[in-house]
Amino acid sequence: SRRPLVAGNWKMNGSAALAASLSQAVRAAAPAQVEVLLCPPFPYLAQVQAALVGSGVQLGAQDLAVAQDGAFTGEVSGAMLRDVGCGYVLVGHSERRTLYGETDAVVAEKFAAAQAQGLRPILCVGETLDEHEAGEAEAVVRRQLDAVLNKVGIAAFADAVVAYEPVWAIGTGLTATPAQAQTLHAVIRAHLADQDASVAAAVRLLYGGSVKADNAASLLAEKDIDGGLIGGASLDADSFLAICQAA
Ligand code: 13P
Repeated sequence: SRRPLVAGNWKMNGSAALAASLSQAVRAAAPAQVEVLLCPPFPYLAQVQAALVGSGVQLGAQDLAVAQDGAFTGEVSGAMLRDVGCGYVLVGHSERRTLYGETDAVVAEKFAAAQAQGLRPILCVGETLDEHEAGEAEAVVRRQLDAVLNKVGIAAFADAVVAYEPVWAIGTGLTATPAQAQTLHAVIRAHLADQDASVAAAVRLLYGGSVKADNAASLLAEKDIDGGLIGGASLDADSFLAICQAA
């Protein structure tokens, strides 16, 4: 059975002081039965890593460069993220896709780069509001998966996580209903199962988009929802820990 994973994506929020207090609070109260992951902004990674030493709480980054090293001003490589203690990295978050022009092809390259540097990618997929209203959610998610599958192959998903984040639910307070979310999670798992049933059965699928302490339990009770990718609520220790407890 799949161990639940609850990841906090702080996005571009916080400060050294908030990073210190959140890491301390999460390390002190993270439930052992759930894998808990914090993804702070790059400047706080080393600090959060130090604060988490000896706890089971994992460290991840929000993005990485395609390239390994070199003249890429402003970029951060997967090797650097490994070096400061990251085990995971988000790839293809909708904010990267929509605000920074990351195409399916770039996302696939980042997924491969993450694995080449020893990081577990958390591949984010999900449809926009327009796509949702046009009834294209399933097709969009399959296309986003295929871009990565065609590059790295299904075996690479044995060590990866997929997060379904409907873009219309991110930061809007509009959550997919548990049934809506489950439908898309089942689509994702079935699409992976078309290539390898055992990889599909083992891969963890996270839901993200306005997950809060009061809706987490019902979402996470769905059979193909193995955890959450939490934005806003991950910036409040009590809320985030309540979500972890619900998983
Ligand atoms: P919110 O939880 O703030 O809606 O953000 C979800 C998200 O994008 C996590 O990656």
